[in-house]
This record gives sequence, C-alpha cells and structure tokens, in this order.
Amino acid sequence: MPELTPMARQYQEMKALHKDAILFFRLGDFYEMFNDDAELASRELDLTLTGRGKDDNRMPMCGIPYHAAEGYIAKLIEKGYKVAICEQVEDPKLAKGLVKRDIIRIVTPGTVLESSMLSDKTNNYLLAVNHEKGRFGLAFVDATTGEFKLSDFNSIEKLTDEIKRIAPAETIVSDLFPEEPRRLVAGSGFKDTYDNDTAVEKLLDHFQVKSLESFGLTGQEVALGAAAAILDYLKVTQKTTLGHINVLKPYHPEAFMFIDATTRRNLEITQTARDKSFRGSLLWVLDRTRTAMGSRLLRQWLLQPLLDVKLIEKRLDAVAELFNNGLLRAELGEGLKKVFDIERLTGKAATQSANARDLVALKESLHQLPKVVNLLEKAGSELLKEPRRLLREESRSSVAGSFVAEITELIKEAIVDDPPFVIREGGLIKPGYNAELDELKQAASGGKQWLAELESAERQRTGIKSLKIGYTRVFGYYIEVTNSNRDQVPPDYIRKQTLVNAERFITPELKDKETLILNADERMKELEYQLLVEVRTKVAAFTKELQAVASAIAQTDVLLSLAEVAVENRYCRPKVTGNGIRVTGGRHPVVEKTLGEFQFVANDVELNERTSFLLITGPNMGGKSTYMRQVALICLLAQIGSFVPAKAAELGLIDRIFTRIGAMDDIYSGQSTFMVEMTETANILNNATANSLIILDEIGRGTATFDGMSIAAAVAEFIHNKIKAKTLFATHYHEITQLAEKNPGMQNVSMLVKETGDQITFLHKVATGPADRSYGIQVAKLAGLPNEVVKRAKEVYNTLEMVENDLGKRGKKNEKISGNRLSARAGQLGLFGGGDGDRRRGTGWTGGRSPA
Ligand code: ADP
Repeated sequence: MPELTPMARQYQEMKALHKDAILFFRLGDFYEMFNDDAELASRELDLTLTGRGKDDNRMPMCGIPYHAAEGYIAKLIEKGYKVAICEQVEDPKLAKGLVKRDIIRIVTPGTVLESSMLSDKTNNYLLAVNHEKGRFGLAFVDATTGEFKLSDFNSIEKLTDEIKRIAPAETIVSDLFPEEPRRLVAGSGFKDTYDNDTAVEKLLDHFQVKSLESFGLTGQEVALGAAAAILDYLKVTQKTTLGHINVLKPYHPEAFMFIDATTRRNLEITQTARDKSFRGSLLWVLDRTRTAMGSRLLRQWLLQPLLDVKLIEKRLDAVAELFNNGLLRAELGEGLKKVFDIERLTGKAATQSANARDLVALKESLHQLPKVVNLLEKAGSELLKEPRRLLREESRSSVAGSFVAEITELIKEAIVDDPPFVIREGGLIKPGYNAELDELKQAASGGKQWLAELESAERQRTGIKSLKIGYTRVFGYYIEVTNSNRDQVPPDYIRKQTLVNAERFITPELKDKETLILNADERMKELEYQLLVEVRTKVAAFTKELQAVASAIAQTDVLLSLAEVAVENRYCRPKVTGNGIRVTGGRHPVVEKTLGEFQFVANDVELNERTSFLLITGPNMGGKSTYMRQVALICLLAQIGSFVPAKAAELGLIDRIFTRIGAMDDIYSGQSTFMVEMTETANILNNATANSLIILDEIGRGTATFDGMSIAAAVAEFIHNKIKAKTLFATHYHEITQLAEKNPGMQNVSMLVKETGDQITFLHKVATGPADRSYGIQVAKLAGLPNEVVKRAKEVYNTLEMVENDLGKRGKKNEKISGNRLSARAGQLGLFGGGDGDRRRGTGWTGGRSPA
C-alpha cells in the first residue's frame, strides 16, 4: 500500500465522517471531488473526470470553481443527494504545512437555505418520525422560516396521511423504527433515537427554558423524540445558530378537515391530477398573493381547512370587509407588492446567512409596513387589526420607538443601497457609518491619487510619454516602459519583469506605498465584513418580533387575495351553519375559469337530513364529475374562510371529504385498477362519518358488469343506511337508479342532454330524475371515432336492444337477463357477423325534466 499524501489523508478523514454525502473539498479556487464522489458527480453534473496523484495513488477527481458552487449544489440536492462542504479554515498564506480544513456545512434537501435552491411559494420541510409503544409521532421544521411543529398519532395510516400532506423535502427516521412502517415513511435513517427524557433535555437546552409546559405538549410525547432528532440533525448539518427556531407548536390533525392524499389529488387542490401542473389547480385560481410568505400561507390554509366556526367566521369577516372596500383592496395591494419575503429574510439573518442584499430587501420591506398598517387603521374585522396591534405593541417594548423603524434605520445607515452579492470583497458599507472604515477608504483613495501623481511626475522626469503605472496580483505595482524608450530609463529604476515589447520596473518608494495601499484594501474588506456581521446580528436580535410581523402580513396578504378572487369571480359569502349543504347557482371555481366567463352552467345542490344521497346519472361528458367536485370545493373553500363560487350557500361543517374517482387510477403503484378502487372504497366506508362528504364517481367500473353493479349498490346502501354521510354518487349503471325507490334518503338527479337527430348537446344542467339513456355512441362520435365504427356500433346496439326486448317478453316478469344469455342469443342472431340498419331515432329533450 503506497503512502498517502498528507492532503489525501486529510481528505479521507473528512470523507469517513460523511459517507452519505458528496464531499466538496476546497482546493484553492476550486471544490474538488474524489473517488466515488468524483465519478458520481461527473455523471450527474456533466463534469470532466480527471485524476490526482501518480500511479497507485491516483484518485479519480473532478472539480468546480468555488464561485459557481451554488448552482452545482442545487442540482445535486434536487436529485436527492447531500453535499458536505469542506473549506480551508485558515489563510493558506499563513498556514504552516497543510492548510487546515473543516466541514462548514452539509446541504441536504430538507435543510437548504439558499433562495436559489428553493421555491419561494412552498415551504421546504424537514420531517422526522418517531415510534414508541405502538404510538407514532412526527415533527417537522422549515429551516428557512423557523416554523417547527409536532403531533402524535395512534396509527401508521394517520401518520403517513399526514406526511403526505406535509410533503417534506426530506424525512429522517430512526434506525430503530420497525421495518414495515419505515418503508412506508420512506426516509433516510439517522442513528440517534431519543427516549422521552433525553428528548426533553435536548429541547430544554435548545429553547433555553426550564420546562416545556408553556408549549402545551401534553399527549404529544412520542413526537418529542422526533423534534429532538430534528434539532440535532440541523445542528450537525448547518453548524450555525438556529435562533429563528424559537417555538415548538404542537398541533392536532383532528382540529382540521381531514382530506386524504387521494382526495387531495382528485380535487386538484395544489396541482392537477394528470400532469401535476399548478395551472388548473384550485390554488392557481386562488393565489393572488403579493408576497411569497402569503403564497405559502395560502397553500397551508388550503391543505388544512378549519373545523372551528369561530375561526372560519373571523376569516370570512376579514374577507368580507376587503370585498366591500375596493379602495382599501387597491391600496393594500400596492403596499404589499413592495414587501419581500420577511419570513425567510429573517431566517437568513438569524442563521447568519443573510448577505447585504438580503438586509437591503428586509429594510425595503419593513419600510412599507407603517404604510400598510396605516391603511388598516380603520379596519373593523379582528384579523385585519392584527398587523397594527403587533406593530403598536412592539413599539412600546422597544427602546428606539418601533423596532421596525430601528431596523430600517440601522440598515439604511449602514448598508449601501445596491450592494454586491459577495460579502467579503467590500463595497457594502455606506460612508459615514464607521470612522475607521472612512479613514481606510481615504487612505486607499489617497494612495491611488498618489500613484496618479507619481505617474505624471515620472513622465516629466524621464521624458517618456508612454510610461505608465500598473498592477498585477503577483508583482504588485510597477512602472512600465516600452522597449523603444528603454534607453531613457533612469538608473534608480529596478528591473522586475521583461515582456515582449516592454520592461517593468519598481522603485523603493513605489513599494512602500504599495504595502500601505494593499494593507488598507485588505483591512477595508475585512472591516466591511465585520460591520455587516454586526448589523446582521443586531437584526437577528429581533427575530421573534420580525417573525410575528411577517406572519401577520402574510395573513393579510392571503385575506386580500381571497377577497380579490371573490370580487373578480362573483363569489358569495357562505353561511356556515346547520348541517346540510345548500348551494344555489354553484360553480366549479377552476372549470369556470378555463371555460371563460359565462360559459359555465351553474347548478344547485341540496343535501340535508331528509335527502343526504344523490344518485347522479347522465352521459359521459355530461358534467357529472365537475358537478360533484364543485360541491366538494365549495365546502372546502368555505372552511378555509373563503367566499365561494355560488349565488348563495348555506353550509354545515364537513369533517372529512372523501373522493373515489375512476378516471385517474394509479397505474404506477403496481396494483390493479380494481384493487386500488376497492382499497379506496374500503377506506371511505371505514372512516367516513355522518358529517363527512363522500364523492363516488363510477364505482364498480373495474370489474365485470354484474359484480360491479352489485358492489356499487351495496356500497350505496351501506353509506345511506349506516354512515349517513352526505354523498354524491355518479353511476353509469342505470339499474342503480332504482335504489332511490327503496331508500328514502336517496334521490336521482341527472345531467340534461339535448338531442337533435342523432346529434346530442350537453346542457350541463342538473335535473331531478334519472337519465334514461347513456348516449355512449353519440359521445364516441363526438370524440371522433371513424364514421364506420360509429355506424357499426349503432347496428350492434339496436340488435342487442331487440334481443333484450325479445328475451324480456319471454322470461318471467322479474327475471334478470344475464349477460351470458344475452350474448348467447346475440350469437345465434349472427350479431357479430352482419347486421341491420339504424332503427332508433330520437328528438327533443331527454334525461330528466326539460328546462323550462
Ligand atoms: P362526466 O363526469 O359526466 O363525464 P365531466 O364533469 O368530466 O363529465 O365534464 C366534461 C366536460 O364538460 C368538462 O370538461 C367541462 O368542459 C364541461 N362541463 C362540465 N360541467 C359543466 C358546466 N356546469 N358548465 C359548462 N361546462 C361544463
């Protein structure tokens, strides 16, 4: 085994500690990767693979310039890797022997702080789970904002559902987590797990408190282990202060409307089901927020509709106030437009990762706040008074008046208006802020002045007009004389460097001045950096206050957004009362947007104790699923405190929304369509309550007709008789419509269709009564099936109908005609060989009552 070089040994020591991360090893102006890391990175980042060392010692290597690191790190993080950054921690010029190096940070998907690696409209969560005596706990943190929450669960299903809602960027799971649930939560492992006592100790230490009582964590003990694991993980990876993580908020998922992952997808709340795009989702219609923090909060609200009428009403009051005041809406919008992401900027200040530009952005945002608050001066609703209350309260406790003014002033005095991104190269601090810095600047610029004077003096003395003074990093300042003037060079010049057509000289006088100038320059950069850190630390002292203000402003932004959407789309304020659903002129918020104004046909719905179950029939494309989803979305919107797309709405609280929708089967999960369908249905039947809303679209489709129909009927009856949940049930089995005759709470409705010759038009209007035909062939024709196929399908249809009539007449009165008998008879008639022409022709209105 050949001897390793000292540097290679240093590298391997570092690497041994961070096996699961790609190690970026700083060498001069580059980060280098070696061995397996180099091979992986060269593949993933498209870098040329080289090598370092000789023969047996040769290690594969690839590298990136240090100033371009952020982009490369972002790519690796996005692909799910972790990156450990190893820096030179002493000045190479001063180092004796090998330069000291250390890991300064480990960047992982859940701990990224750089804006360039994050979406500003979504939170970036790191999540940990814990498990103890059959109970589960989770904790999650957004390291950019400091949001830190936890909750206990009594089943793995509830835990995984919640993890899906949170959608963490990274999950850490204790190695001691049982194998099966561990697979379900799909996280990377960490070694430590904490029993309750150790966890509490770690938390007390972090929050610097004597007891966790004030956090109100009773009943959430298992999650404490997860919370402690998160803090440790952050400490190991960030190696910085975590002052912005200053509260731990327990929450109870039961306090919110429960929406499972399937339903979230089916209702297309934050992205569309088909291509996962934002455009076309509910959030796409609702998000008019001006600030990134508002946008993130709106998403949170949408994923956690409330169950507390008082809170809902508070939000509705605020939305209503803004809805009714156009001037306030406009002015508030203008004010908020100039507010940046105070939440994340505060996080950056607290973790000492804010640069001068971040501080300027914070200053500009805070500068807007008094204006925003003044606009809300006359606000009557409680939530709109909040920002004002916060600023006023703070101003009493802070020495120099309002802390907002204090920070704004400080940054304004210290930092130039348009500073560079880098913070170690100077150019950050305003003149007049620091006397020493001003003196240094004076000296440096005096030095430059001196150089200019020296240049003209030397030109005069030597008579060389082209003589000039220049600077390189290697040689410092020099006097350059072209070859043609070489004979005029005075004897006191000392030759330093020979170029092709010029010589460079120095003089002792020039060198003296050089030391002064360069020292001043170095010192200036260092001092500017120190001053920046000082300002940043002063700002960080107000982390809590800034967080509170940020959250009040984010909320104001969301309320304004909801009000604007309501005005623009003619939404109404729902009455949240009773326990039924009564909507007049309801619309689907997204479909109406994509169809264009006034194209959308509004529909009513009424579900109450007497009629809790609607059986919906009508042709494909008739609008069944749009109708059902719109009812669910209206309930959901009301419970986040939004106005709803309707003329009027009276809504009781819904505890859960369940959906089972056929068209979007999960073909990727490896389960058969039917299996997925039945698993989802089972989940609904096991978890729905009388206060739930259930949407079932064509259940039983994934199997043979009679199986499917039987299952559909049994499911419908079970829900109607046992669960009594409000239910919308679309089916293409016409036989099912008969259920309404036996079950008093069920009612048939159908989507109207206009039929002219063999053309049909969908009216998208819901009418009472079942549909009498399914119009499959007409819809197929509309879809562009070749004429020949459509014609043949009609032939087959007509013959089958004849056969059915024929069999029906001869069979006993209530006898069911089995598919087998039907197809046997059809075979006898040579149906699948040749056929006769089109017999049936209809005109006029069909499918329930005609519209007046
Ligand atoms: P179904 O579930 O009956 O097959 P969908 O609900 O998918 O039908 O609706 C099919 C299409 O009809 C939608 O994409 C939409 O363009 C249109 N549509 C549905 N409902 C309405 C409505 N109320 N007003 C106008 N167009 C509608």
